[in-house]
Amino acid sequence: MKIEIPKDHPRAESLRLREKLIEGFEAGIVARAGLIAHGRGEAFDYLLGEKTTPCAKEAIKAAVATLLIAKRPVISVNGNTAALTANHIVALAEMTNAKIEVNLFYRTAEREEAIKKLLEKVGAKKVLGVRKDASACIPELGSERRRVNPQGILVADVVLVPLEDGDRTEALVKMGKKVIAIDLNPFSRTAQKATITIVDNVSRAMPLLVQVARELRNETPEKLQQVIQKFDNAQNLGESINLIKERLSQLAVKGRFLDLQKGETK
Ligand code: ATP
Repeated sequence: MKIEIPKDHPRAESLRLREKLIEGFEAGIVARAGLIAHGRGEAFDYLLGEKTTPCAKEAIKAAVATLLIAKRPVISVNGNTAALTANHIVALAEMTNAKIEVNLFYRTAEREEAIKKLLEKVGAKKVLGVRKDASACIPELGSERRRVNPQGILVADVVLVPLEDGDRTEALVKMGKKVIAIDLNPFSRTAQKATITIVDNVSRAMPLLVQVARELRNETPEKLQQVIQKFDNAQNLGESINLIKERLSQLAVKGRFLDLQKGETK
């Protein structure tokens, strides 16, 4: 059953995302556990103010520069990311010359195919990692996430991993790859282990990645290197954590809570 979300509902956008995930679940794209994982993300989004923060924007810029400079970039796609932002995955891949590869923790052939079909419907020309196509293995990894394409994630120098698990992020970094994560939880192992962590909702970060890629794609490699060198992931994560701390301090001041819910941040 599809519900009508009132436009003036204070949580309209959040409810809209939930509906997209439920639809994705019913279409066999999102795993059951994906719905729960989204809930963990929502909690952090609430704490961050449900807006892309200035430090997330910095991370997005560094991420785009890293993707544009990469020789073999790959965008790794799971069910939640596909359900929330399939068209932006395809746009970003085109803009940065990246391959698209399906990679699932709860892997079934049906779900792989459903995700591939959705990506193709919104314009993907080639989708790696489905069924026998994921014939290579990431060493040291026990989960189904270990299965990768030999011309995709296995040999990539940069992998964008929206909504990742910490184990695989760590394994990919150990293989010498640069890992760009999108994760609302700045405390997660993924966030802490990635080379660049975008602490933002994947549904907001992906369109911004596309927009920034459009702006930066004609820059020289030297300029892109400067953007990357200026970025410090540990410091950026610290800024996101401080932002949460400040918001919690504001929320703790008597009488401020309702104002903050209306979107007032100072
Ligand atoms: P880790 O293994 O990295 O410590 P985890 O066990 O919390 O992380 P999972 O349960 O596999 O990871 O995945 C959920 C993660 O994805 C959470 O960290 C959550 O904050 C994040 N997440 C969920 N939905 C979104 C979203 N829409 N945008 C960004 N991040 C999200």
